[in-house]
Amino acid sequence: MGFTVAITGRPNVGKSTLFNRLLEQRKAIVDNVSGVTRDRQYGVADWNGKNFNVIDTGGFVPDSEDIFETEIRKQVKIAIEEANAVIFMTDVSTGITTLDESMAEILRRSTKPVFLVVNKVDNSERQLDATEFYSLGFDNIFFLSSMSGSGTGELLDAITELI
Ligand code: GDP
Ligand code: MG
Repeated sequence: MGFTVAITGRPNVGKSTLFNRLLEQRKAIVDNVSGVTRDRQYGVADWNGKNFNVIDTGGFVPDSEDIFETEIRKQVKIAIEEANAVIFMTDVSTGITTLDESMAEILRRSTKPVFLVVNKVDNSERQLDATEFYSLGFDNIFFLSSMSGSGTGELLDAITELI
């Protein structure tokens, strides 16, 4: 099946936007409404002649907070099992949330490589805000604007180094 990377993170952080950018084609539906991507999306990314599978997770958005937390934890565990490496996506515009912390706790225990992505780093002010994400405790940290594509090259370099 080849090398597989799963994109995890709470709703609205920009997982589907990054997924589309990595594929450079619109296979997932991206929308302002969270949970528009109902199911998992699978695609193949190509970077400097190296291919890998990408999974966009987390389309399901339950309405209760408790179920929400349980569902997100389940998604992370499935992603860790299914993939060779995990992109853990966060959002600088909201800062670190309790859901981010609870996902980080699971992912820090993973034996698979984790790439922490701080997304929506669109400008220099947000670059300063983004430094708080070092506190989540991941060595592989990338600052991206998935919307513009800035930072994605460094992330792709790091992923393809593992292949
Ligand atoms: P998902 O729920 O994690 O899949 O998030 P989406 O990819 O659907 O994005 C949620 C919202 O964030 C959409 O309105 C996107 O346009 C927006 N978004 C995604 N990436 C960026 C970014 O780099 N900068 C900004 N400002 N907005 C972004
Ligand atoms: Mg999505």
